[in-house]
Amino acid sequence: MDDCIFCQIVAGDIPSRTVYEGDDVLAFLDANPLAPGHTLVIPKDHHESLADLPADEGRALFSALHELTPAAESAVDAPASTVAFNNGEEAGQEVPHVHAHIVPRFSDDGGRPIHALVS
Ligand code: AMP
Repeated sequence: MDDCIFCQIVAGDIPSRTVYEGDDVLAFLDANPLAPGHTLVIPKDHHESLADLPADEGRALFSALHELTPAAESAVDAPASTVAFNNGEEAGQEVPHVHAHIVPRFSDDGGRPIHALVS
């Protein structure tokens, strides 16, 4: 989609700090990180919400998350992480292209859930 910022990242039309690229999935650092190593994992094809995501792309996305979550943690020496989707505008989804957030968590960050991190 021409006006989708994440599609423009996939196309290489705007820069990103890419940490992984596969056939179906791209991962890059969030431009406004909630924590060091905050990573976004997206399907390369444009789908607005999880309900729109074909099952095979969902499997590829989860497989990438399975690998990238521990990698994001170890890259910043974090013992844990919050992995979340904002799925729909009312849930706070600002970019209408499916994406998972991997937010590394640290022993001194209060252990608050993700909604407390962004409020
Ligand atoms: P959400 O509210 O779940 O839609 O989150 C969208 C995320 O995309 C936010 O955390 C933004 O900081 C991030 N973001 C927006 N534009 C870019 C960009 N060009 N590169 C990297 N991250 C971005």
